Formats: sequence, structure tokens, C-alpha cells
Amino acid sequence: MFETLSILTFIYVAIVLAYIRKLIIRMQQDNMRQIEDLQKIYAKLVDQQNQLAEHKIDIQNEASKVFTLYDMTREVTRTRSQQDAFEIFKDKLHQNVHYVKCELSDAPCPEVTNFMGKNGRFFFRLRNKETEMGHIMIDRLETEDKDKAVILCHQFALALRRVKLYQEIEQTAITDSLTGLHTRRYALERLDEELTRAKSRRMDMAVLMIDIDHFKNCNDRYGHLVGDQILREVGDIIRSSTREIDIAGRYGGEEFCIVLPDTDLSGARYAAERIRSAAEERTITAYDATVHITVSVGIATYPADARKSSELIDKADWTLYKAKKQGRNRVCAFGD
Ligand code: GH3
Ligand code: MG
Ligand code: MG
Repeated sequence: MFETLSILTFIYVAIVLAYIRKLIIRMQQDNMRQIEDLQKIYAKLVDQQNQLAEHKIDIQNEASKVFTLYDMTREVTRTRSQQDAFEIFKDKLHQNVHYVKCELSDAPCPEVTNFMGKNGRFFFRLRNKETEMGHIMIDRLETEDKDKAVILCHQFALALRRVKLYQEIEQTAITDSLTGLHTRRYALERLDEELTRAKSRRMDMAVLMIDIDHFKNCNDRYGHLVGDQILREVGDIIRSSTREIDIAGRYGGEEFCIVLPDTDLSGARYAAERIRSAAEERTITAYDATVHITVSVGIATYPADARKSSELIDKADWTLYKAKKQGRNRVCAFGD
């Protein structure tokens, strides 16, 4: 009896042990499968990480290329000349893009939009808000380089806008807003320069001082608005009676000075007389007034009358005073 019980117990334990063993083996197999799955996922992640690293390097390279294109701004901000800015642009274009010829024109762009035709001719419109500044033509630009060319062209357009703005500011600073002639300061600066040039090249030079006769009466009689119109017209007379190389400025209220490079006394007398007679002949209509004016002119010359710019101005002014005393509407020279 006892023996039978022991055998049964043994069989039972053996069955339980076999079952537990089977259970453990199955668990081990499951674990192995999970580990394999995890290893596969890990390998995939490592692969993806490598791909991302490569992609990052590509993006960095691309970004540095784009930054290089935008780098032009830094170089171009050092220049205030349109031609220098274009040379920098062409240099950058040459480094980054394949093309045969590149030209800048201030004529309107022949194409309405930035365009590349069949023959690889690329046109870029240069615009400043509403106004056309011209266009760039790049001949035989490779199609794959178009995007780079567009970036560089935009950079150049910015530079050109900046250059034009500087030119406008400079022009405003040296221009008298009422008459459109130069300011006194600019005319005096140019007088110094021209005198230095005249001395080094042994050339003659003359200075005219011009003053409107009895201008106070005009203001009193017709009002300041008419007075201002008279000043504009005298500015116009002076501009159209002088050469491109002459420097005409508004010296004070109704007084003007003109620097005449490479001009002797007879040339200065001729220029002064032309201005005087043009003023005398001009009929000025402003608002409902019709006005006639005259001017007096004083002349001083280098080297005959003075060798310093301040002395030239003083002597021309003194001579102008003499012309006034002699009856106005006349030209007087210092040596007369
Ligand atoms: P003269 O023949 O001796 O030169 O006499 P004048 O009346 O021209 O000289 P004066 O120096 O006595 O007067 C100059 C006048 O110019 C006085 C001033 O009111 C006027 N004036 C100066 N600047 C301007 C300006 O910008 N606009 C106007 N309308 N008048 C001005
Ligand atoms: Mg006067
Ligand atoms: Mg005066």
C-alpha cells in the first residue's frame, strides 16, 4: 500500500516537473523571440540614426552654400558705387554659377517676369518699389544654376537700391531745395578743389557773384511766394547759361556764386553777360503777377586778382557791390 502511494507520488511529481520544464522552455523561447525583435528594432533605429546624420550633413552643406551666396551682402555694403557693386556680383556669380556672359542695363527688362529662354538667356528685373532700375542679363546660364542666380540677383538688387538711396541722399544734401542749384557749402568746397586743380595745371579760373536787383521791392510788392518763383527762375537762367563743368550755387538769400574752371576774364565776362541779359529778357509769371527783374554780377579771376579761394569770393563780392553802386543791371570785373 505504502509502496503504491510512493510510486503514485513520484509519478505525480515527475509529471509536474515535466510540465514546469516545458513551461520554462516556452518562456525562454518567448524571451528569445522578444530579444530578437528588440535587436531588429535596435538595428533599424541605428540605421535611421545614420541616415539622419547623413541628411544633417547634406542640409549643413546646402545651408553653407546658401550662406555663401548671401555673403555678397557683407562685401557689397562696403561700396557706394553701382559699378563696384556689379563687379562684386559678377565675381560671386562666377564662383557659384556656370554662364558665358553677364550684363547690367538700366533699360527696362525685355521680359515681364524673371525668365530663362530656350537658349539659356536669363533676365532678372531690377525694381525699387514701383520704379524699374533696369535688368541683369545672364547668357547661357545652366538650368540647374537658376536658383543660385536668382538669390544672387536679389542680393544685387538690394545693393543697387542702397547705392541709389545714398546717391539721392548725397544729392539732396548738396542741392538747394528752392532753386535746384548747389548749396553754398558744396559750391565753396568745389571752389577749393578747382583752385587746387587750376594751380597744379596752371589754368585760369573765375568766380562770379550774382545778386538780384531790388529784390526786396519784389517781395514787398508781390509777396514772398512770387519772390520764391523769381528765385527759381533765376536758378533756371543760371543753369541754362552755364557749362556742365561750372559749379553754380545759391550763396545766400538772393545771391548766387558760380565757379568757372579753366576760364579767363574775357570768358567770365561773356558768361556773366549771358546771365545778365537772359535775366533782363525773361518775363516771369507767378500766380497772377508778371514780373521783370535784373541782376548785377561781380567777377574775380585767378591768378590775376587773387590766389586764395576766400580772397576770390571777397573780391567778386566787392565787385558786385561796385556794380550795384554804378546803377545795377551790369557786369563788373575786379580789374575794371
Ligand atoms: P539790391 O539791389 O541792393 O541787391 O537790393 P535788394 O532789395 O535785392 O537787397 P536786400 O539785401 O536789401 O534784400 C534782399 C531780400 O531778399 C530780402 C529778403 O527778404 C529776400 N530774400 C532772401 N531770401 C529769400 C527767399 O528765400 N525767398 C524770398 N521770397 N525772399 C528772400
Ligand atoms: Mg539784391
Ligand atoms: Mg543780396
